[in-house]
Amino acid sequence: MKVPLLDLKAQYSTIRGEIAAAIERVLESQQFINGPEVKQLEEALAAYSGCTRAVGVSSGTDALLASLMALGIGDNDEVITVPYTFFATVGSIWRTGARPVFVDIEPETFNIDPRLIERAVTERTKALIPVHLFGQCAEMDPILSVASKHGLAVVEDAAQAIGATHKGRKAGAMGTLGCLSFFPSKNLGGLGDGGMVLANDEQLAEKVALIRQHGSKPKYYHRLVGANFRLDTLQAAALLVKLKYLDMWSAKRRGNARLYDRLFAGFEAVKCPVVREHNVSIYNQYVIRVGPRRNALLAHLKENGIGTEIYYPLCLHEQECFRSLGYKRGDFPHSELAADETLALPVYPELTPEQIEYVVATVKGFLS
Ligand SMILES: *Cc1c(COP(=O)(O)O)cnc(C)c1O
Repeated sequence: MKVPLLDLKAQYSTIRGEIAAAIERVLESQQFINGPEVKQLEEALAAYSGCTRAVGVSSGTDALLASLMALGIGDNDEVITVPYTFFATVGSIWRTGARPVFVDIEPETFNIDPRLIERAVTERTKALIPVHLFGQCAEMDPILSVASKHGLAVVEDAAQAIGATHKGRKAGAMGTLGCLSFFPSKNLGGLGDGGMVLANDEQLAEKVALIRQHGSKPKYYHRLVGANFRLDTLQAAALLVKLKYLDMWSAKRRGNARLYDRLFAGFEAVKCPVVREHNVSIYNQYVIRVGPRRNALLAHLKENGIGTEIYYPLCLHEQECFRSLGYKRGDFPHSELAADETLALPVYPELTPEQIEYVVATVKGFLS
Protein backbone atom coordinates (compact mmCIF):
# COMPACT_ATOMS: atom_id res chain seq x y z
CA MET A 1 0.00 0.00 0.00
CA LYS A 2 1.19 3.52 -0.79
CA VAL A 3 0.52 6.28 1.74
CA PRO A 4 2.01 9.65 0.75
CA LEU A 5 2.71 12.26 3.43
CA LEU A 6 0.35 14.61 1.62
CA ASP A 7 -1.88 14.04 -1.41
CA LEU A 8 -2.90 17.40 -2.84
CA LYS A 9 -4.39 15.78 -5.93
CA ALA A 10 -7.03 14.03 -3.82
CA GLN A 11 -8.20 17.41 -2.50
CA TYR A 12 -7.97 19.14 -5.86
CA SER A 13 -10.21 16.58 -7.53
CA THR A 14 -13.08 17.64 -5.22
CA ILE A 15 -12.86 21.37 -6.12
CA ARG A 16 -11.50 21.31 -9.66
CA GLY A 17 -14.53 23.01 -11.24
CA GLU A 18 -14.75 25.77 -8.63
CA ILE A 19 -11.04 26.55 -8.86
CA ALA A 20 -11.22 26.67 -12.66
CA ALA A 21 -14.16 29.10 -12.54
CA ALA A 22 -12.39 31.34 -10.01
CA ILE A 23 -9.21 31.42 -12.10
CA GLU A 24 -11.23 32.08 -15.23
CA ARG A 25 -12.88 35.13 -13.60
CA VAL A 26 -9.47 36.60 -12.79
CA LEU A 27 -8.22 35.86 -16.30
CA GLU A 28 -11.23 37.61 -17.79
CA SER A 29 -10.69 40.65 -15.53
CA GLN A 30 -6.90 40.72 -16.19
CA GLN A 31 -6.57 42.36 -12.75
CA PHE A 32 -3.66 40.27 -11.54
CA ILE A 33 -2.44 42.82 -8.98
CA ASN A 34 -4.72 44.10 -6.18
CA GLY A 35 -7.85 42.64 -7.77
CA PRO A 36 -11.09 42.57 -5.76
CA GLU A 37 -10.46 38.96 -4.62
CA VAL A 38 -7.53 40.14 -2.48
CA LYS A 39 -9.76 42.42 -0.43
CA GLN A 40 -12.48 39.75 -0.29
CA LEU A 41 -10.02 37.22 1.09
CA GLU A 42 -8.70 39.74 3.63
CA GLU A 43 -12.20 40.45 4.89
CA ALA A 44 -13.10 36.77 4.96
CA LEU A 45 -9.98 35.84 6.95
CA ALA A 46 -10.34 38.72 9.40
CA ALA A 47 -13.90 37.53 10.07
CA TYR A 48 -12.80 33.89 10.23
CA SER A 49 -10.01 34.63 12.70
CA GLY A 50 -11.93 37.14 14.80
CA CYS A 51 -9.60 40.10 14.24
CA THR A 52 -10.35 43.52 12.81
CA ARG A 53 -7.93 43.59 9.85
CA ALA A 54 -6.08 41.22 7.56
CA VAL A 55 -3.48 42.21 4.99
CA GLY A 56 -2.64 39.80 2.17
CA VAL A 57 1.07 39.34 1.48
CA SER A 58 3.32 37.29 -0.76
CA SER A 59 4.16 34.46 1.69
CA GLY A 60 4.23 33.46 5.33
CA THR A 61 7.88 34.48 5.40
CA ASP A 62 7.01 37.94 4.11
CA ALA A 63 4.14 38.15 6.61
CA LEU A 64 6.72 37.75 9.38
CA LEU A 65 9.19 40.17 7.82
CA ALA A 66 6.55 42.83 7.08
CA SER A 67 5.18 42.48 10.63
CA LEU A 68 8.60 43.02 12.20
CA MET A 69 9.26 45.96 9.85
CA ALA A 70 5.90 47.51 10.77
CA LEU A 71 6.84 47.24 14.43
CA GLY A 72 10.02 49.17 13.68
CA ILE A 73 12.33 46.30 14.66
CA GLY A 74 15.89 46.55 13.38
CA ASP A 75 19.55 46.91 14.32
CA ASN A 76 20.38 46.55 18.02
CA ASP A 77 16.98 45.03 18.82
CA GLU A 78 16.39 41.51 20.10
CA VAL A 79 13.47 39.24 19.26
CA ILE A 80 12.77 36.12 21.30
CA THR A 81 11.64 32.90 19.65
CA VAL A 82 12.27 29.15 19.60
CA PRO A 83 15.10 27.26 17.87
CA TYR A 84 12.71 24.43 16.92
CA THR A 85 10.66 25.90 14.07
CA PHE A 86 10.78 26.41 10.33
CA PHE A 87 13.71 28.57 9.22
CA ALA A 88 11.55 31.55 8.20
CA THR A 89 10.66 32.45 11.81
CA VAL A 90 14.29 33.16 12.58
CA GLY A 91 15.40 34.22 9.10
CA SER A 92 12.90 37.07 9.13
CA ILE A 93 14.21 38.35 12.49
CA TRP A 94 17.74 38.22 11.10
CA ARG A 95 16.79 40.10 7.94
CA THR A 96 15.55 43.10 9.93
CA GLY A 97 19.01 43.41 11.48
CA ALA A 98 17.73 42.34 14.90
CA ARG A 99 19.23 39.51 16.91
CA PRO A 100 17.25 36.29 17.37
CA VAL A 101 17.30 35.17 21.02
CA PHE A 102 16.20 31.59 21.60
CA VAL A 103 14.32 29.96 24.42
CA ASP A 104 13.59 26.24 24.61
CA ILE A 105 10.31 24.44 23.94
CA GLU A 106 8.03 22.37 26.13
CA PRO A 107 8.76 18.73 25.29
CA GLU A 108 5.07 17.72 25.23
CA THR A 109 3.69 20.30 22.79
CA PHE A 110 6.90 21.38 21.01
CA ASN A 111 5.86 25.01 21.59
CA ILE A 112 7.73 27.77 23.43
CA ASP A 113 8.03 27.19 27.17
CA PRO A 114 6.52 30.38 28.63
CA ARG A 115 8.36 29.88 31.93
CA LEU A 116 11.70 30.42 30.16
CA ILE A 117 10.85 33.68 28.41
CA GLU A 118 11.37 36.21 31.15
CA ARG A 119 15.01 35.33 31.82
CA ALA A 120 15.75 35.91 28.09
CA VAL A 121 14.34 39.46 28.17
CA THR A 122 16.89 42.29 28.12
CA GLU A 123 16.58 46.05 27.67
CA ARG A 124 17.01 45.41 23.92
CA THR A 125 14.12 42.97 23.58
CA LYS A 126 11.37 44.38 21.37
CA ALA A 127 9.21 41.41 20.45
CA LEU A 128 8.36 37.76 20.99
CA ILE A 129 7.47 35.32 18.23
CA PRO A 130 5.60 32.31 19.59
CA VAL A 131 5.23 29.63 16.91
CA HIS A 132 2.05 27.55 16.90
CA LEU A 133 3.87 24.44 15.75
CA PHE A 134 2.22 21.56 13.90
CA GLY A 135 -1.23 23.17 14.26
CA GLN A 136 -1.46 23.71 18.03
CA CYS A 137 -1.35 27.12 19.69
CA ALA A 138 1.36 28.03 22.16
CA GLU A 139 0.36 28.94 25.74
CA MET A 140 -0.70 32.47 24.92
CA ASP A 141 -1.85 33.74 28.34
CA PRO A 142 1.53 33.59 30.09
CA ILE A 143 3.23 34.72 26.84
CA LEU A 144 0.98 37.78 26.57
CA SER A 145 1.44 38.63 30.23
CA VAL A 146 5.27 38.56 30.06
CA ALA A 147 5.02 40.66 26.90
CA SER A 148 2.79 43.27 28.46
CA LYS A 149 4.91 43.39 31.63
CA HIS A 150 7.99 44.26 29.52
CA GLY A 151 6.25 46.25 26.78
CA LEU A 152 7.01 43.72 24.03
CA ALA A 153 5.09 43.14 20.81
CA VAL A 154 3.86 39.59 20.18
CA VAL A 155 3.98 38.36 16.58
CA GLU A 156 2.29 34.97 16.32
CA ASP A 157 3.79 32.64 13.75
CA ALA A 158 0.51 30.94 12.88
CA ALA A 159 1.77 29.63 9.52
CA GLN A 160 0.88 26.07 10.58
CA ALA A 161 -2.17 26.90 12.64
CA ILE A 162 -4.90 28.68 10.68
CA GLY A 163 -8.21 27.94 12.43
CA ALA A 164 -6.61 26.41 15.52
CA THR A 165 -8.08 27.72 18.76
CA HIS A 166 -6.71 28.43 22.21
CA LYS A 167 -9.36 28.92 24.92
CA GLY A 168 -11.80 29.75 22.13
CA ARG A 169 -9.57 32.35 20.45
CA LYS A 170 -8.18 31.80 16.98
CA ALA A 171 -4.51 31.44 16.11
CA GLY A 172 -3.03 34.68 14.82
CA ALA A 173 -5.66 36.92 16.41
CA MET A 174 -4.36 36.91 20.00
CA GLY A 175 -1.09 38.82 19.72
CA THR A 176 -0.09 42.22 18.34
CA LEU A 177 0.11 40.74 14.82
CA GLY A 178 -0.42 37.25 13.46
CA CYS A 179 1.15 35.61 10.41
CA LEU A 180 -0.47 33.03 8.15
CA SER A 181 1.05 31.06 5.26
CA PHE A 182 -0.72 29.69 2.20
CA PHE A 183 2.18 27.48 1.13
CA PRO A 184 0.52 24.53 -0.61
CA SER A 185 1.20 22.08 2.23
CA LYS A 186 -0.46 24.27 4.88
CA ASN A 187 -4.09 23.55 5.83
CA LEU A 188 -5.21 26.45 3.64
CA GLY A 189 -2.81 26.06 0.74
CA GLY A 190 -2.74 28.19 -2.39
CA LEU A 191 -1.57 27.45 -5.91
CA GLY A 192 1.88 28.74 -4.99
CA ASP A 193 3.14 31.17 -2.36
CA GLY A 194 0.95 33.48 -0.32
CA GLY A 195 0.46 34.76 3.21
CA MET A 196 -1.56 37.09 5.43
CA VAL A 197 -0.92 39.39 8.37
CA LEU A 198 -3.72 39.53 10.95
CA ALA A 199 -4.14 42.59 13.16
CA ASN A 200 -6.41 44.17 15.73
CA ASP A 201 -4.71 47.56 15.49
CA GLU A 202 -5.81 49.71 12.59
CA GLN A 203 -2.62 51.79 12.46
CA LEU A 204 -0.33 48.77 12.46
CA ALA A 205 -2.43 47.09 9.78
CA GLU A 206 -2.15 50.23 7.65
CA LYS A 207 1.60 50.23 8.13
CA VAL A 208 1.83 46.59 6.99
CA ALA A 209 -0.29 47.49 3.97
CA LEU A 210 2.05 50.39 3.20
CA ILE A 211 5.17 48.23 3.57
CA ARG A 212 3.61 45.64 1.24
CA GLN A 213 3.64 48.19 -1.58
CA HIS A 214 7.06 49.88 -1.32
CA GLY A 215 5.77 52.27 1.35
CA SER A 216 3.98 54.11 -1.40
CA LYS A 217 0.90 56.24 -0.72
CA PRO A 218 -0.23 57.93 -2.88
CA LYS A 219 1.39 56.06 -5.75
CA TYR A 220 5.02 57.10 -6.38
CA TYR A 221 5.23 59.04 -3.08
CA HIS A 222 7.14 56.92 -0.57
CA ARG A 223 6.67 57.44 3.16
CA LEU A 224 8.97 54.58 4.10
CA VAL A 225 11.01 51.85 2.46
CA GLY A 226 8.90 48.77 1.98
CA ALA A 227 9.07 46.06 -0.65
CA ASN A 228 6.89 44.12 -3.05
CA PHE A 229 5.04 41.90 -0.59
CA ARG A 230 1.74 41.69 -2.48
CA LEU A 231 -0.57 38.67 -2.65
CA ASP A 232 -1.53 37.78 -6.25
CA THR A 233 -5.20 38.08 -7.21
CA LEU A 234 -5.05 34.55 -8.64
CA GLN A 235 -3.96 33.19 -5.28
CA ALA A 236 -6.68 35.09 -3.43
CA ALA A 237 -9.32 33.78 -5.86
CA ALA A 238 -8.26 30.15 -5.33
CA LEU A 239 -7.97 30.61 -1.55
CA LEU A 240 -11.50 32.03 -1.36
CA VAL A 241 -12.75 28.78 -2.85
CA LYS A 242 -10.70 26.64 -0.46
CA LEU A 243 -11.55 28.67 2.65
CA LYS A 244 -15.13 27.33 2.50
CA TYR A 245 -13.78 23.82 3.06
CA LEU A 246 -11.01 24.61 5.52
CA ASP A 247 -12.88 23.70 8.71
CA MET A 248 -14.17 20.47 7.20
CA TRP A 249 -10.68 19.49 6.08
CA SER A 250 -9.17 20.35 9.47
CA ALA A 251 -11.90 18.32 11.22
CA LYS A 252 -10.99 15.34 9.03
CA ARG A 253 -7.35 15.74 10.05
CA ARG A 254 -8.49 15.71 13.69
CA GLY A 255 -10.48 12.53 13.04
CA ASN A 256 -7.38 10.93 11.51
CA ALA A 257 -5.32 12.02 14.51
CA ARG A 258 -7.86 10.48 16.88
CA LEU A 259 -7.66 7.18 15.00
CA TYR A 260 -3.84 7.21 15.25
CA ASP A 261 -4.08 8.05 18.97
CA ARG A 262 -6.45 5.14 19.51
CA LEU A 263 -4.41 2.63 17.50
CA PHE A 264 -1.15 3.62 19.22
CA ALA A 265 -2.72 3.64 22.70
CA GLY A 266 -0.79 1.42 25.10
CA PHE A 267 2.14 1.07 22.68
CA GLU A 268 4.99 2.48 24.75
CA ALA A 269 7.52 2.96 21.93
CA VAL A 270 5.44 5.72 20.32
CA LYS A 271 4.50 8.99 22.02
CA CYS A 272 1.53 10.56 20.24
CA PRO A 273 1.10 14.34 20.00
CA VAL A 274 -0.20 15.94 23.19
CA VAL A 275 -2.95 18.54 22.69
CA ARG A 276 -3.85 20.60 25.75
CA GLU A 277 -7.51 20.47 26.76
CA HIS A 278 -8.01 24.19 26.08
CA ASN A 279 -6.59 23.86 22.55
CA VAL A 280 -8.10 22.65 19.29
CA SER A 281 -5.33 21.57 16.91
CA ILE A 282 -5.64 21.65 13.15
CA TYR A 283 -2.92 18.97 12.84
CA ASN A 284 -0.94 20.54 10.05
CA GLN A 285 1.38 17.69 11.04
CA TYR A 286 0.92 14.58 13.19
CA VAL A 287 4.31 14.26 14.83
CA ILE A 288 5.21 11.25 16.94
CA ARG A 289 8.20 10.82 19.22
CA VAL A 290 9.93 7.48 18.86
CA GLY A 291 13.35 7.87 20.49
CA PRO A 292 16.77 6.88 19.17
CA ARG A 293 15.49 4.50 16.49
CA ARG A 294 13.89 7.38 14.60
CA ASN A 295 16.18 7.36 11.56
CA ALA A 296 15.90 3.60 11.17
CA LEU A 297 12.11 3.86 11.41
CA LEU A 298 12.11 6.59 8.78
CA ALA A 299 13.99 4.34 6.34
CA HIS A 300 11.65 1.45 7.12
CA LEU A 301 8.54 3.55 6.45
CA LYS A 302 9.95 4.77 3.14
CA GLU A 303 10.73 1.18 2.11
CA ASN A 304 7.13 0.33 2.82
CA GLY A 305 5.64 3.12 0.72
CA ILE A 306 4.80 5.46 3.60
CA GLY A 307 5.57 9.16 3.24
CA THR A 308 7.21 10.74 6.27
CA GLU A 309 9.35 13.73 7.09
CA ILE A 310 11.45 15.15 9.91
CA TYR A 311 10.31 18.57 11.08
CA TYR A 312 13.07 19.70 11.68
CA PRO A 313 16.32 17.73 11.66
CA LEU A 314 18.62 20.58 12.80
CA CYS A 315 17.58 23.31 15.23
CA LEU A 316 18.08 26.92 14.23
CA HIS A 317 20.69 27.65 16.92
CA GLU A 318 22.89 24.98 15.31
CA GLN A 319 22.60 26.26 11.73
CA GLU A 320 25.73 27.39 9.96
CA CYS A 321 24.23 30.75 8.96
CA PHE A 322 23.55 31.65 12.61
CA ARG A 323 26.95 30.57 13.94
CA SER A 324 27.83 34.16 14.82
CA LEU A 325 25.05 34.17 17.44
CA GLY A 326 27.35 32.01 19.55
CA TYR A 327 24.96 29.22 20.50
CA LYS A 328 26.10 25.61 20.70
CA ARG A 329 24.73 22.08 20.96
CA GLY A 330 23.34 21.51 24.43
CA ASP A 331 21.94 25.03 24.82
CA PHE A 332 18.33 23.96 24.14
CA PRO A 333 18.03 20.28 25.12
CA HIS A 334 14.28 19.86 24.53
CA SER A 335 14.51 21.37 21.05
CA GLU A 336 17.51 19.20 20.19
CA LEU A 337 15.82 16.06 21.45
CA ALA A 338 12.69 16.87 19.43
CA ALA A 339 14.84 17.28 16.32
CA ASP A 340 16.46 13.89 17.00
CA GLU A 341 13.46 11.82 18.07
CA THR A 342 10.39 12.86 16.10
CA LEU A 343 8.77 11.95 12.82
CA ALA A 344 5.66 13.18 10.98
CA LEU A 345 3.08 10.64 9.80
CA PRO A 346 0.53 11.28 7.03
CA VAL A 347 -2.59 13.00 8.46
CA TYR A 348 -4.09 14.76 5.42
CA PRO A 349 -7.92 14.87 5.23
CA GLU A 350 -8.46 12.33 2.46
CA LEU A 351 -6.58 9.46 4.19
CA THR A 352 -8.65 6.31 4.63
CA PRO A 353 -8.87 4.33 7.88
CA GLU A 354 -7.19 1.41 6.05
CA GLN A 355 -4.21 3.60 5.20
CA ILE A 356 -3.91 4.75 8.82
CA GLU A 357 -4.14 1.14 10.05
CA TYR A 358 -1.39 0.20 7.62
CA VAL A 359 0.87 3.05 8.83
CA VAL A 360 0.32 2.06 12.47
CA ALA A 361 0.92 -1.64 11.76
CA THR A 362 4.14 -0.79 9.90
CA VAL A 363 5.41 1.44 12.73
CA LYS A 364 4.52 -1.13 15.41
CA GLY A 365 5.99 -3.98 13.38
CA PHE A 366 9.32 -2.18 13.26
CA LEU A 367 9.48 -0.92 16.84
CA SER A 368 8.15 -4.08 18.56
C1 LIG B 1 5.50 27.59 6.38
C2 LIG B 1 6.03 28.33 7.53
C3 LIG B 1 6.50 29.64 7.43
C4 LIG B 1 6.73 30.34 6.12
O1 LIG B 1 5.69 30.37 5.26
P1 LIG B 1 5.95 30.49 3.67
O2 LIG B 1 4.59 30.81 3.15
O3 LIG B 1 6.46 29.16 3.21
O4 LIG B 1 6.91 31.58 3.44
C5 LIG B 1 6.86 30.31 8.58
N1 LIG B 1 6.80 29.71 9.78
C6 LIG B 1 6.39 28.44 9.93
C7 LIG B 1 6.32 27.85 11.29
C8 LIG B 1 6.00 27.70 8.80
O5 LIG B 1 5.61 26.43 8.96
